[in-house]
Amino acid sequence: MKVSDNVYLVECPFLRPGYFVSSCIIAGRGIVLVDTGLEDSPKQAIYPYLGDLGLGIRDVSHIILTHAHFDHCGGVSRIREEVLCRVGVHEYGKPFLEDPLLLDIQLNRRFPILYGIGEPRFKPVEADIVFKDSDIIDTGSVRLRIIHTPGHSPCSSCIVYEDKGIYISGDSIQGYGGNRPLLFHSSIDYMESLDKFSKEHIDILVLGHPFPPYGRAILRSWEVRDFIKESLEAIEKLRSLVLDILRESGKPMNPREIYERIGVSQPITIGCILEDLEREGEASRFDEGVDLWVG
Ligand SMILES: [Zn+2]
Repeated sequence: MKVSDNVYLVECPFLRPGYFVSSCIIAGRGIVLVDTGLEDSPKQAIYPYLGDLGLGIRDVSHIILTHAHFDHCGGVSRIREEVLCRVGVHEYGKPFLEDPLLLDIQLNRRFPILYGIGEPRFKPVEADIVFKDSDIIDTGSVRLRIIHTPGHSPCSSCIVYEDKGIYISGDSIQGYGGNRPLLFHSSIDYMESLDKFSKEHIDILVLGHPFPPYGRAILRSWEVRDFIKESLEAIEKLRSLVLDILRESGKPMNPREIYERIGVSQPITIGCILEDLEREGEASRFDEGVDLWVG
């Protein structure tokens, strides 16, 4: 799908029919890819799309990642087998890109009831560009600005193509409804990141998935402002629901039980909220090492 003159969104199939993870093509003298989908996304979706544009994978000079989760970075190793392009990720994402099991190991330590350690879902990749907030990446054909927007993950970043007013946000803004928002890191950081977004002048926002309620990955002008505002309201509401349920319960609860009472988002998001409430002095672990909480 065309986003702007030289920017295209490739919808890489994911999870169920009609759902996808975004990979963006920015075509200049070389091609910049922002995110690469899953391990099979290059062959399944990205190469055919480049072919339709009359471009080839060997024109790819850079891959810039919004974060180091398997559904966004899984295709990197496959593309690197074809072309020696440079790969950029936020400094906090580098260890996760190099060790596909690190996320599971950390989540298992934080939430033993919720999270087991599975099989690796992508091949390790070494990043050769490591960026941080406010960095400018000059690829020789485009200049991209980085906004560090943690919350979903510690390394989440928005990639800004300022010449066109295009913000590629990955999973840094997720809307509300169904299983969203899905957080693996921190609700406090997520809210602060949404606040950062609300101060930017965004013409076009490209999301990492077709998040609810719009169910589209490209939002423009007033939709962007509404989506950011609604995303912030959704996380604030979720946090106060978690605290209310915990206080009213009268017995220790685990994140899954709280999630079942709420019925939206995901147990892991509730776990992240509980950790944040603990930092704020509003909740505490009932017993060390067990995922039970009291308000
Ligand atoms: Zn994602």
